[in-house]
Amino acid sequence: MQNDTIAAIATPPGIGGVGVIRVSGPEAFAIVLPLFRQPGGRTSLPPSHLLTYGQVVDPKTEEIMDEVFAAFMQAPRTYTREDVVEIQGHGGPLILQRILRLVLAQGARMANAGEFTLRAFLNGRLDLAQAEAVMDLIDAQTEAAQRLAMQQLKGRISAQVQSARQAILAVVARIEASIDFPEEDVPTPQPVELMPLIAEAQRQVDALLVGSEEGRLYRQGLRTAIIGRPNVGKSSLLNALLRTERAIVTPIAGTTRDTVEEVANLRGIPLHLIDTAGITPSADPVEQMGVQRSRAAAESADLVLFVFDGAEALTAQDQRISQELYALGFGRDPSQEEAPTTSQDATRDPLSGHPGRPVVVVINKSDCPRQLNSAEVQRMWTGAPLVSTSMLTGEGLPELEESIVKLVLAGKTLHSSSALVTSVRHQEALRSAAAHLHASLVPLEQGLPLDFVSIDLRAAYDGLGEITGETASEDLLDKIFSEFCIGK
Ligand code: GDP
Repeated sequence: MQNDTIAAIATPPGIGGVGVIRVSGPEAFAIVLPLFRQPGGRTSLPPSHLLTYGQVVDPKTEEIMDEVFAAFMQAPRTYTREDVVEIQGHGGPLILQRILRLVLAQGARMANAGEFTLRAFLNGRLDLAQAEAVMDLIDAQTEAAQRLAMQQLKGRISAQVQSARQAILAVVARIEASIDFPEEDVPTPQPVELMPLIAEAQRQVDALLVGSEEGRLYRQGLRTAIIGRPNVGKSSLLNALLRTERAIVTPIAGTTRDTVEEVANLRGIPLHLIDTAGITPSADPVEQMGVQRSRAAAESADLVLFVFDGAEALTAQDQRISQELYALGFGRDPSQEEAPTTSQDATRDPLSGHPGRPVVVVINKSDCPRQLNSAEVQRMWTGAPLVSTSMLTGEGLPELEESIVKLVLAGKTLHSSSALVTSVRHQEALRSAAAHLHASLVPLEQGLPLDFVSIDLRAAYDGLGEITGETASEDLLDKIFSEFCIGK
């Protein structure tokens, strides 16, 4: 238990219908009660976990600050497992600031980012993976991401991690008993006995790793750059994917000068769409900025949607943009045939940004007579899916979405309803545990003393403990909770 009492405004900055101030710690009731004037002059502690109507009053000046509902919640059935008070006032920044100041003047300390959730973790209400799920839930951009965060918050990931840890611990216990008590007739376990037990732990860790790439896709989404020369329909495509009109679309070439970033929901995967002015050389300084920005956008993109105008023949600009993209590692330049990349490679890991980065070719304006030689475009972008669309009629959009999903998931099916590991941190811990489990088999196969086996098993066990927090260092906790918002 922490011995100080913390307070913060828990609702976002700005104006809203209501605003909430949250107070947690051993003095929470003692701090808030003198500020809270109840109807009929009552001064006793209101019933726990119920909303009580009252006024917040400055005890020095008797000024009534606000008319509020307050919930006094007795430990341990609270978010932090401490005594908690939540004051629901009117949602104006000044009102909330003034109430918070009163609470602080009564002896509370301003809470750090994520400190309420940190307390929930330290007091055993949530493990670390669940605490992280709280933030994922708040940040979720699609329903699929929200569902996965909820599964994690309910402890589904933690339970699977704990089960794998128990499987490892069972092996360690057998080995260490024979090492520690050789004289007490504990038989030395034989490799043939231990190997299946380690294999079982491996199976459990692998099962968690299997869906983790997909889980990361749902949580992080894909940075997607829409690239192409001016007027081919990039803004129209952006809007179609967002299904709302957000960027201004005009028939004058080169008017989309700024890079806009919006998030589209592609079957549960957040697509962070970066609209660009096209990678083309230009003398116009504003346009040049757009060009630089779109090159930067392509550079950092996980996926490029390369748009061509189907109603016009291929232009030198299209060729130039292709060259730029090859240089950035997208697709492969047909004039540099000696370094082939199979489409398998190109789709293997869209998040790592390795060479052969994924591109979908979009031939737009299919409602107009076709002037573009698509065979030539396909030659330039061998292996990349090619989709014909019309932003005017919406034709080809479902096919485009299908191509993107296929490309980034490399044929895997979406199963966002089951529990998936979604965080890079968890994925790394699992990979390291898998490596240690694998390494533990080597001394076993070589007939080396069992100490060597248990070193790696212990490392795997501790590594998995970092996911749920049992073995997490203070630095790691600081890092994780500092990314939370204040008041959460
Ligand atoms: P950007 O410069 O690449 O962003 O292109 P815009 O999205 O601004 O589109 C340029 C022009 O082409 C606009 O007048 C659009 O209405 C038009 N346009 C975009 N997509 C299509 C399409 O599929 N068919 C037709 N006929 N016109 C389109």
